[in-house]
Amino acid sequence: MIARKTLIAKKREGGLDLIDISATRDALRVKLIGRFLDSKRQHPWKDTLAGPLAKYGERSSYNLYAFSPRNVTGGFPGFYREVLEAWDKFLPHLRPDVEYKEHVIRLPFLNSPFFSHKGRPLVSKALREAGLTTQGGVCGRGGDCLFFDKNKTLTGLKRAGGVFKTKQIMDLGMSITQGVEKSWRTLTSRGMLMQDDAVKFLLCQGAKSTSLPQIKTKVIYDILIQKLIKRPAAELRWAAIFPTKTVTSIWCNLAIPFLSHAVFNTDFKLRHRRYYSSIVLHQIHKLKFQRLCPVCGLEDEDFEHLILRCGALSGFKTYVCQFLKTGCGATAAQLAEWDWVWLFGLLRQGRGGITMQVNTLLSFARHAAVLRRNYALFENKKVNVKELFKNLLKAHLGLLHACREEVFTELFISRTALCKVGEGGGLVFNF
Ligand SMILES: [Zn+2]
Repeated sequence: MIARKTLIAKKREGGLDLIDISATRDALRVKLIGRFLDSKRQHPWKDTLAGPLAKYGERSSYNLYAFSPRNVTGGFPGFYREVLEAWDKFLPHLRPDVEYKEHVIRLPFLNSPFFSHKGRPLVSKALREAGLTTQGGVCGRGGDCLFFDKNKTLTGLKRAGGVFKTKQIMDLGMSITQGVEKSWRTLTSRGMLMQDDAVKFLLCQGAKSTSLPQIKTKVIYDILIQKLIKRPAAELRWAAIFPTKTVTSIWCNLAIPFLSHAVFNTDFKLRHRRYYSSIVLHQIHKLKFQRLCPVCGLEDEDFEHLILRCGALSGFKTYVCQFLKTGCGATAAQLAEWDWVWLFGLLRQGRGGITMQVNTLLSFARHAAVLRRNYALFENKKVNVKELFKNLLKAHLGLLHACREEVFTELFISRTALCKVGEGGGLVFNF
């Protein structure tokens, strides 16, 4: 079966947009931190979180800039611990929203995603024990509060009486200085920190930045599941067969409007290569299945044979190619890479084209080909694939005409030569 971690992806990435419960829970918990930091809302529950946070480091909510539940030995009620674990996952996607240098000197640097060395967060037992955990505690060289100050730090460490290696502390200091964002250096100093200098975070996506309390739960969810999503395994195989094509595009036109679930399902399974070929079925059940293709009876049936290379399919594929030209006005250039188009259809190019119509027809053609093969394999029945295709298509167009006449007229009467409305109001097909 298709991996669950693939199915939680968006449809355009080969998934089914299934909800991941744990990511949903995490997103809601991150949202709670947003409320916690929103000073406009006062709630008693905030104390339950603020209390233990204050114990963890010197400045309560400032500790959210560098939080790792791995360093917390206790003190958090179970639920809040889970909230902070979710926060830990989301924090690297945010950045501190700082306005004045006074904000920067309050930033904790140990275990912070904003200060790291070679992609790893900074850790130092000696500095933590000495209480030197914020930017301001170790910086201030030459009066610049954003440069690591060696003397100040070593004096602080000696005063605390802990054991430390000077070289390690110096390396750490370098990372702290480097971790300061360029834009922070140009900040002005206000001289003091005000009461309302709340802890703030920004989510930057392209040119747009949103402050944490304003981020929608869905946005947090979408970011959190990115780490969980597994790319569809089938992409690698398709890439090997079509080395010049962009395989990630095969999912783009999968969800065609108005198509029945059965037709969508065939396409979804084909693109994920989730049909068992006769070769595979033979391995599973040697007595019941042969390796030989049940349709042409000439070659062993692997997956490509089933939907692409079967000799009994080639005539039908040619027929469909011609059908797209006469019925939908598809050009030879559009159908040039016919095997690719046969499998994955055309990419949509703006409104008003015939891409959707071509893709609808192709979906029915593949569906008919798979049905014909399954009849032969499981019921030992021979089916005329062209007639099957035409009948399925007629039923679909008839239904669409009956249920959504306006849409149908716009899509199929005015833009294709497939059918017209007869005198009695019924559809007359040209095929
Ligand atoms: Zn065959």
